Amino acid sequence: MLNKYYRLSNGVKIPKIGFGTAMMDNLTTQSTVKKAIDLGYRLIDTAYIYENEVGVGNAINSSDIDRKELFVTTKIDPSAKNYLDAKQNLDKSFQNLNSDYIDLLLIHSPQPWNEFRGENHYLKENIAIWKLLEEFYESDLVRAIGVSNFQKIDLDNLIDNCEIKPMVNQVLAHISNTPFDIIDYSRNEEVLVEAYSPLANSKILNNPNLQIMAEEYDVTVAQLCIKYCIELGLLPIVKSEDTEHMKENLDFNFKISHLDMEYLEHIERISSYGDLDYMSIYSKQI
Ligand code: NAP
Repeated sequence: MLNKYYRLSNGVKIPKIGFGTAMMDNLTTQSTVKKAIDLGYRLIDTAYIYENEVGVGNAINSSDIDRKELFVTTKIDPSAKNYLDAKQNLDKSFQNLNSDYIDLLLIHSPQPWNEFRGENHYLKENIAIWKLLEEFYESDLVRAIGVSNFQKIDLDNLIDNCEIKPMVNQVLAHISNTPFDIIDYSRNEEVLVEAYSPLANSKILNNPNLQIMAEEYDVTVAQLCIKYCIELGLLPIVKSEDTEHMKENLDFNFKISHLDMEYLEHIERISSYGDLDYMSIYSKQI
C-alpha cells in the first residue's frame, strides 16, 4: 500500500481502509478489534447503536499502538433526533469508548431506523444535531464530523444551513451497487465517501464473473471488492471475524485495469442486498 491515507477537507489524515464492528457483542468486539489492530488496521468503525463501543474502547486502550496512530469513528443513535437526546447519546459514547476524543463522529442516518428512507428527512432536526457536532468539533473533542446514509437533499440541508460542511458521508457501496450520483456530488463538495458493506455483507463473493476476474489478478473476490472501492477513491469499511480474512482484506497492493473498472462500474446488480436489508437485519437484532 503506497499511500495509506486519504486527507479530509480539514486536513486530517484518515486511513484508506476501515475495520467494521456491526453485529458484534462487546466481548467479541474487544478481542476482534485487538486482533485487527495487531494485524495493521488503524481505523475502527463503531456506532452507539452497535452497543459495542465499550469493546472498542477496551481494545484501543489496551493496545500497544499509540492512540494517535488509531482512528476511531462512532455514530449518533439514529433515534436521537433532537439536540438534547443527541448530546446525552454522545456523552455516553465518550464514556463507553473511555477516550478523551473521537476521531470521526457521524450522524448515523437522516431518519430514525424505523423510518429509514421514508419521506420525512428530519431537516430541522438534523440541523440541530449538526450544530452539536460542530460544537464538539470546535472544542477539539472530535477531530472530524460527518454523516452516514445521507442523500443529496440531506447533505444540501447541512451545507446550505450550517457553518461547517460534513467531511465524510458513509454509504452502502459495493460492486454492482455503487451510488455514483451521491459519490460524485459528495466529491464535488469535498466530502470523502466511505463505502460500508464493501463485500455486500459477503453476498457477492460467490459470483462467477467476479471469481474469474479475481483469478486473473491472482487475488480473491473480497480483495477485488475492496480494491474496486479504493480505485474509486472510496474508503471501504470491511468487517471480518476470521483472522485469515482480516489479513487478506488488508492486502490490496494491485491495480485494477481501466477496462476492468469500466466493467465493474457497469455490471448489473448481482445481489439484492441493499441498505434497507441492512436496517432490517439490524432491527431484528436489537
Ligand atoms: P462486509 O464487510 O461487506 O462483509 C462482511 C462479511 O463478509 C462477513 O460475513 C465476513 O465473514 C465476510 N468476509 C469478510 N472478509 C472476507 C473474505 N476475505 N473472504 C470471505 N468472506 C469475508 O459487511 P458489513 O459488516 O455489512 O459492513 C462492514 C461494516 O460497515 C460494518 O461492520 C459497519 O462497521 C459498517 N456499516 C455501517 C452502516 C451504516 O449505516 N453506516 C451500515 C452497515 C455497515 P467472516 O467474519 O467469516 O470473515
